[in-house]
Amino acid sequence: MKILFASSEAHPLIKTGGLADVSGALPKALRDLKQDVRLVLPAYQELLARAGHLTEVARLALTGSVEPVRVLEGVLPGSAVPVYLIDAPLCFDRPGNPYSGPDGKDWPDNAQRFAVFCRAIVELAQDRVGLNWRPDRVHCNDWQTGLVPALLSLETPRPATIFTVHNLAYQGLFDQAGFLALDLPSTWWSMHALEFHGHLSFIKGGLVFADALTTVSPTYAAEIRTPEFGCGLDGLLNQRAAQLTGILNGADYALWDPASDPLLDAHFSRQSLKGKDANKQALQQFFGLPTDARLPLFAHIGRLVEQKGIDLVLDILPELMRRPLQLAMLGSGQAAFEAALRAAQTVYPERLGIRIGYDEGLAHRIEAGADLFLMPSRFEPCGLNQIYSLRYGTLPIVRRTGGLADTVVDATPASLDAGTATGFVFDAATPEALLACIDRALRLYTQRTAWTRAIKNAMAQDFSWARSAQLYLKLYLDLYRAT
Ligand code: ADP
Repeated sequence: MKILFASSEAHPLIKTGGLADVSGALPKALRDLKQDVRLVLPAYQELLARAGHLTEVARLALTGSVEPVRVLEGVLPGSAVPVYLIDAPLCFDRPGNPYSGPDGKDWPDNAQRFAVFCRAIVELAQDRVGLNWRPDRVHCNDWQTGLVPALLSLETPRPATIFTVHNLAYQGLFDQAGFLALDLPSTWWSMHALEFHGHLSFIKGGLVFADALTTVSPTYAAEIRTPEFGCGLDGLLNQRAAQLTGILNGADYALWDPASDPLLDAHFSRQSLKGKDANKQALQQFFGLPTDARLPLFAHIGRLVEQKGIDLVLDILPELMRRPLQLAMLGSGQAAFEAALRAAQTVYPERLGIRIGYDEGLAHRIEAGADLFLMPSRFEPCGLNQIYSLRYGTLPIVRRTGGLADTVVDATPASLDAGTATGFVFDAATPEALLACIDRALRLYTQRTAWTRAIKNAMAQDFSWARSAQLYLKLYLDLYRAT
């Protein structure tokens, strides 16, 4: 089967979060299943610098683009997956983050930028760029590709479309002038199409028009059909419930395995845990914390936003710092959270290590060196760090939501007895519930035999992409209706 996989980021070319990990790994896993899958991405400035050898394969005149748009072909580094890059310099040849400027605010022309990207994807999907390659399925991801299923609905024949929601909170909302500027069919200014409470909604292009909808965990698939998690779209998602499924993300163990991870100070495995101590010591040194092997080292990596429950961590910090533990955090995001963490570090220099920024290598070293991983998310479509933590024997402390609920087994007396415990799970999104859960973890940490057993059990969990890729392939095969 020929599959065009459309995304606004893919590791290792460009990454801001979990979407990149998925878009870098799932196409590879589908290729391992003998499918002809090709990736399409915007040619951001930073990405072009990393893309290696590229060939221009087409030049397009697109509605909404005052310049000709080039299609460049290369391969996803470390794989055999062909990549098409949409090179529209006015849209993508600028420094920094794919979605926001140096001031941290969204680029003001995001609607035009990603509309150009979507129109280019449609040309590829309809084999109008001279490649002589016509995909059977187009798999779109998040709002940046949301106009693709809508635009393809105007074409016959056309490939079937799949739209995956990686985070429903990011919807690509723009004002009505933005809608008018994009030259889309005027009938789409309707609550039954792209309008969302007086705004243009890119994500609705996917949610309304795609033939199949997926999200990245079974629990999140159920949650987004409720008002609490539906971000105003639960009504629409309930209408489309028959087309909506949850498929858990996998981990790319070629990149995230402590037995072979080249970014680590020492390797370790379930059979030989010794190297984990060396990683812990190196991490303590890196963060300027006392190198004490006995103190439990907690960690957090992620975007510093409310979704991730950073405010809960800040709320309990004074209490936490009274306990015998250390905490190392890596992240960037909302300025207020960044400032609060920096300030806290000066208060607790012996206990708290903070790095503000984005650092892929350090993320690996934290996973390897920490004992426990904090992930108290308010909602979490799938979450990858807890899955990486399991493999690195770093027991996750998570809230029971979305993919966190689907991947971590709470350490209760029963699950510890049965040998199925892999972490610690709490329910209420409150500082008290988080602290109580941490205290449970601290108690288990002092019981060395039970602790080591839980670590080994966590490390034995298999969330590799092979299984999830099979589920996507089945979904692609089941989609006969539309084409
Ligand atoms: P989300 O997609 O909501 O940001 P996920 O847990 O699904 O969260 O994926 C986050 C990915 O981004 C993980 O691979 C994580 O290691 C990485 N990441 C997030 N913040 C940072 C950071 N500051 N430095 C390095 N890696 C980060």
